[in-house]
Parts: sequence; structure tokens; C-alpha cells
Amino acid sequence: MASFDPDMDTATYRISVAPEALAEQQRLIANPLLAVVALLGVWALFRYSLEARNLYLFLATLFAATVCALLIQFHCLDCGRGDFALRARRHACAPVVRRLRAGAAPPLTPPLLRTQIKAWFVVAATALVLFAIFHHVG
Ligand SMILES: [Zn+2]
Repeated sequence: MASFDPDMDTATYRISVAPEALAEQQRLIANPLLAVVALLGVWALFRYSLEARNLYLFLATLFAATVCALLIQFHCLDCGRGDFALRARRHACAPVVRRLRAGAAPPLTPPLLRTQIKAWFVVAATALVLFAIFHHVG
């Protein structure tokens, strides 16, 4: 007989879980839209700083570009909540905790959040390189 019944055991006590085990049970979708929009603004400032030959603006633009990575967000497929990706390690909604406690196999889709962010980064870098190539050709 199982000692845990998810319908009866609604206590909200803390449990210690390895971050990897939690990440495997989460079903999060990466949402880089806010970061991409911010990068467009950074790109405009970057070009202006080069045209104006303003070193301080150029350095501030580089700093802003690195800060844009913090604006990547996630969306949880289980509870519908969205938040910044930095806080994804702490996101443990009821379905995630239920799967953790039951020892369920990790869901196959979607891929881990960090894998999605890496894929978005590769897609963005590829698009940027292709834009640079075709912008020079045409
Ligand atoms: Zn959730």
C-alpha cells in the first residue's frame, strides 16, 4: 500500500530535492521575446554609439547586451505561470511536486529549459550571421 496519496496529503512542508531532479520534472517553455525586443534596442544604441564614436555609450551598450540575457522568461505548461528564467530552479508547482513524490519518469517533452535557451541562442546567432552575410551581399 502506498504511503502517499496526492488527494489526501496536501501538506506544504519543505522537501529537499536535487536541482537536477526538479528540472527533469518541470515542463517549462523558454520565452525569449522580451530579451529579443531589448536586444533590438541595444542594437540601435550600439550602432548609434559607433556612429557618434562615444566610448561610454559603447561600453554601456555592451553591459546592456549582457543584461538582456536576464530577461529570458519561462512559461510552465503545468500551472500556466510565467517568470524569469533565473527563477526556474525554484519553480515547483503542484503537478511538478506530485511527479517528484511519485517518482514518475521525467516527461519527454518539452526539453529542459537550459536546452531550449541554448537552442534559441544558436538560432539567434545563426540568424544574425545570415543577416550580416545577406545584408552585405544585397
Ligand atoms: Zn508550474
